[in-house]
Amino acid sequence: MKIRNGFVSNSSSSSFILRKGGEFDNAQELAIHMLGDIGKQDLIDLIKKSSKDPNTNIAFHSCNYDTYITTVDNLLLVQTCNNEDWSIHDEVSYKEIRETHPELLDGDYDELSYDNDIRKKSKFWFLNYNLMVSKTKTYEWCKEHDIDFFVINGKEMCPVCYNKKHLERIQKLKRLIK
Ligand SMILES: [Zn+2]
Repeated sequence: MKIRNGFVSNSSSSSFILRKGGEFDNAQELAIHMLGDIGKQDLIDLIKKSSKDPNTNIAFHSCNYDTYITTVDNLLLVQTCNNEDWSIHDEVSYKEIRETHPELLDGDYDELSYDNDIRKKSKFWFLNYNLMVSKTKTYEWCKEHDIDFFVINGKEMCPVCYNKKHLERIQKLKRLIK
């Protein structure tokens, strides 16, 4: 069964933090490596062909939880699914992050906060949809496609059928007018 992002429990989501200029110089290099781990060559090709800023935040589907890579200062923050076997070695310790960026952490847990402002305010290049998206204010998902809504071009919608929600609204309005 697919578990939706909105009902995350810390048991099977996971997060880690890398320093830029260590194993990877930017979000794109890290994403290419992680996509290699899960065999998503089509998404690797998409990144390599693009002319986007290599530090653009990136998101993609992975196991139960989508993966989000966010750049903050000289750090690469990764929120992902612990059911994938990521070959990442050079993590920054949470002890260090607690000293330099305590606002990124989930209270006293050694875990990035899923509710931190940076994630909420950030735009991500969602590779599977090849769209720039940001999180919606309240959690909603497309019942037809069983995926989360995102803010796309300023409007909340399903990244697959785009405007279905708006169509429903328009139909409701039309019924009211009748
Ligand atoms: Zn949809």
